[in-house]
Amino acid sequence: MNKKQELLLSLPSVDEVLKSRHGQGWLESCPRRYVLAAIRDVIDLRRKEILDGTAGDASIEDMASDIEIKIQRASRVSLRPVINATGIVIHTNLGRSALSEGAAENVKRIATGYSNLEYDLDAGMRGKRYSHIKRLLREITGAEDGFAVNNNAAAVLLCLSSLAKGREVIVSRGELVEIGGSFRIPDVMAYSGAVLREVGATNKTHMHDYEDAFNDNTAMVLKVHQSNYRIIGFTEDVSIERLISFGHSREIPVMYDLGSGCLMDLRPYNIHSEPLVQDIVRSGADLVTFSGDKLLGGPQAGIIVGKKELIEKIQKNPLTRAVRIDKLTLAALEAVLMEYVDEDKAKKKIPTLRMLTENRQDIKARAKKICAILKRDIKDAAIDLREDSSQAGGGALPEKDFLTFVVSIRPEKISVNDLEERLRRGEVPIISRIKDGCLLLDARTISPHEVPVLVKGIKAALR
Ligand SMILES: *Cc1c(COP(=O)(O)O)cnc(C)c1O
Repeated sequence: MNKKQELLLSLPSVDEVLKSRHGQGWLESCPRRYVLAAIRDVIDLRRKEILDGTAGDASIEDMASDIEIKIQRASRVSLRPVINATGIVIHTNLGRSALSEGAAENVKRIATGYSNLEYDLDAGMRGKRYSHIKRLLREITGAEDGFAVNNNAAAVLLCLSSLAKGREVIVSRGELVEIGGSFRIPDVMAYSGAVLREVGATNKTHMHDYEDAFNDNTAMVLKVHQSNYRIIGFTEDVSIERLISFGHSREIPVMYDLGSGCLMDLRPYNIHSEPLVQDIVRSGADLVTFSGDKLLGGPQAGIIVGKKELIEKIQKNPLTRAVRIDKLTLAALEAVLMEYVDEDKAKKKIPTLRMLTENRQDIKARAKKICAILKRDIKDAAIDLREDSSQAGGGALPEKDFLTFVVSIRPEKISVNDLEERLRRGEVPIISRIKDGCLLLDARTISPHEVPVLVKGIKAALR
């Protein structure tokens, strides 16, 4: 018998692998169908290798690690945690905002049992889903009333559909923005059934443009925060205050889509362009919409606050049901809003706010620590601490440099692009950026508890 025949004969059957110590272990923790498929695949592969003369062993022990990798790949959930080392705090592709511990705990409490979601415990009868956040929204924003839906795109759609269907809405041309590739004001307007009445030029819109556009069929004035887009130079727009007095003199509501929805003054932290929800409400806007997971730092949601009469009208629209907020999101949102009641604590508890407001010395200390560990353990890469700038993301633009500290890595044995890919495809994916031939890890968006996993991932990628 030659070597090939010998190896082919020693190849175990699927059943033998299943009955082995390894097979029993896999069956205990993974679905049987994935275990079977992985065993079959690896045995088939090994048979081919034997015939090609490239395999030297075909024992169960020898195949076990290949089988295990296949089982793990198949049993792994697709949506999983990553380390955001990009420095972009509100990163839409990476899930925008991380929830605070308190909010996550509240989600778990509500998720794993029954709740009074739509049950009035005092009256012993059907209650309202939106009652749970109404008081907090009123308290925090100063508005008469408020509730939340699936996301801000839904909030805008719902408001327009409820108050302006078949009628005209005046919007400045400079505010007809597209956000994140799929939210375009003109498209949302078309879906809502409202008729867009665009006024002004891209760079300039004057009060008289609004005045000239007004007619018997005008339902509303809409102002849209330009978010991640700026027209610089020879520009002019009409302030929300002037739009409000115009709208009220003509007896039509004025709505402001704020996008990011800042509930805390972030100017001391170099985020200057975000109007505060409270200020807009106080100035008399009839409706204000904003996201739950941008600067607010909560779950994906669209928050609508404003005049009681309008909110009640919107809630009666059948579309409200189609875009309603689910109980897990509501649990997270209520807990986060509760944290806003004490602003100083909110800055520490809510990850988005913590990252945006963290002082530079603390960011530097964390970057320095990561740098020192990497330098100690890694010899074939140039590793340095550097100053750089982060981004707020989520449509909030820092006007000045948003300074941060990064660890820069220039590998010697592989290319920087290879390193970026290996990190991204690692056990715990690490998302980084490349600048001037170096890979940068921004300490602003790396939490202290992620540091050991980060270091392990980098070491593995450079091996
Ligand atoms: C982000 C944004 C939206 C969309 O909000 P989502 O919560 O992502 O649906 C709408 N309008 C403006 C001005 C925005 O910045």
